[in-house]
Amino acid sequence: MKWTRYLIPTAKETPADAVVPSHRLMIRAGLMRQIAAGAYAYLPLGYRTLQKIEAIVREEMDRAGGVELHMPAMQPLDLWKETKRDEAMGDTMVRLADKPFRRNTVLGPTHEEVVTDIVRAYVNSYKQLPITLYQIQTKFRDEERPKSGVLRTREFLMKDAYSFNPDKASLDESYRRMYQAYCRIYERCGLPYVAVEAESGPIGGDASHEFMVVTDAGEDYLVRTEDGTYAANVERAEFAPLPAPADAPAQDLKEVHTPGLSTIDDVSGFLKCAPADMIKTLIYEADGAVVVALVRGDHEINEPRLRRHLGANALALATPAVIEKVTGAAVGFAGPVGLKDVRVVADQAVSVMRNAVTGANKTDYHLTGVNVGRDFNIAETADIRYAVPGDKAASGAPLIFEKCIEVGHVFKLGSKYSDAMKAHFLDENGKSKPVIMGCYGIGLNRIMAAAIESSHDDAGIIWPINIAPFTVEIVALDVREEKVMATAQQIHDALEARGIDVLLDDRDARPGFKFKDADLIGIPLRVTVGKRGLDEGIVEFKRRGADDVQKIAPDKIVEMIEGVIDRENRN
Ligand code: ATP
Ligand code: MG
Repeated sequence: MKWTRYLIPTAKETPADAVVPSHRLMIRAGLMRQIAAGAYAYLPLGYRTLQKIEAIVREEMDRAGGVELHMPAMQPLDLWKETKRDEAMGDTMVRLADKPFRRNTVLGPTHEEVVTDIVRAYVNSYKQLPITLYQIQTKFRDEERPKSGVLRTREFLMKDAYSFNPDKASLDESYRRMYQAYCRIYERCGLPYVAVEAESGPIGGDASHEFMVVTDAGEDYLVRTEDGTYAANVERAEFAPLPAPADAPAQDLKEVHTPGLSTIDDVSGFLKCAPADMIKTLIYEADGAVVVALVRGDHEINEPRLRRHLGANALALATPAVIEKVTGAAVGFAGPVGLKDVRVVADQAVSVMRNAVTGANKTDYHLTGVNVGRDFNIAETADIRYAVPGDKAASGAPLIFEKCIEVGHVFKLGSKYSDAMKAHFLDENGKSKPVIMGCYGIGLNRIMAAAIESSHDDAGIIWPINIAPFTVEIVALDVREEKVMATAQQIHDALEARGIDVLLDDRDARPGFKFKDADLIGIPLRVTVGKRGLDEGIVEFKRRGADDVQKIAPDKIVEMIEGVIDRENRN
């Protein structure tokens, strides 16, 4: 492909809202253009990469035994009502306005309902199971704040796969195959990824994994141990209980006047104590019943974990009216001392606190010198907080926190959807059973951006070989020299004949300008053909991101490049 025949409008300007490198570089390298908030056009160069990623994903899905189909982005809301996810999706779901001739239609944020509807229509016997269906389709999600370029958009490409299994053992096998396929996909895309334990589904155990790319551009956090034996999403992370501090003499319980001071920061500032010396008292309603949760002042409550501990479906902070009724005080002065007739769950870290500070259940007052066992009892201890730096893994190794991007998710769903939608089959004994399901998603655009996040420098992108828009770029200097253009064209044609993607920069421009663009768009292998080199009998070969330039005879370059690509794919 010749540059002059190809739309590659590299831009000098960086968009003002580009806060992450991949966003900035994708715009500047002419890979994409924002059309609306959270919706991007992929320009020819960018679309080549997206298509390469798509091809890798499709190959690995097929290899893992997936069967491809295509489901509509337009879906009836009625299917979502069957699983009650119309409510759970809330504002994220893009709903089309009703018209006289069409009502209750949404644009799919995902396809569990549609695929389950298809399977219940066609699958009725164990003989048809297991099956894994997949598609590569545009998803729509009205993300509140689409940002970071294509890392989070309102319209994006997802590969979503769904396994339908007769029993749990079969699900485990389908899950294992998908997990392995995901690892292969990221490896082939050149992405440094970490598979982490994620929020588990109804089946429990290791029922869900997220695939993360560690980068500052990420919005998620993972925790892991240095030796890599443990890695988890921060929401899911297990950690060692905190030890009790060395015995300190118990202070007297004292009531102190803290007028208008109701936050941890206000009170710790006023009383000159550390947030870690305070007990945070949070009052929730879980499925309608009041529950009080206690965490240390410097810790954050992990609501999903509290919800799971309680076995509740719905969990929300109580209203001020309920809080006042439970504590007898204004909001901000709750504490565990003197609470009656209410379920209290204390985080493990609270159970080892000494001489704590907490609300007095009396407006404008706090208590100091609060001690478990003497001033209040803990009937129920659980892990209900997020891990923080300083926490240790169960093995005792320190936990490391890293910012990351989720690029994929595999999940054992169990019978959640088949129960709700009555997707049943007859087993060997003629007994009707719900199909057991798994779901597996990968964001294709996110892979592209994550690859750039993990591989770029100040000058531009450094593409991994398999997903680069082109594998080789030939920079022809002195384009008005016949010999230069003839050699460049020859190398170009020879590479193309071997199925190697090659871009020939044939623009009549200064070398410095062309090299700058070459660095920006980041094609991994660069061949420079110039008059001076040809007079010496050489062209130059350089790898993007490496410093050394190799001089090589024009008739040896093609073979050499083939060797480099071969080696890359063997590793
Ligand atoms: P997130 O927590 O980042 O919103 P999610 O948990 O909603 O992701 P899934 O529903 O599991 O994501 O979707 C599967 C994959 O689709 C994700 O791993 C991610 O790669 C991609 N994805 C999800 N939301 C977006 C988005 N708004 N823009 C681009 N890709 C997305
Ligand atoms: Mg999301």
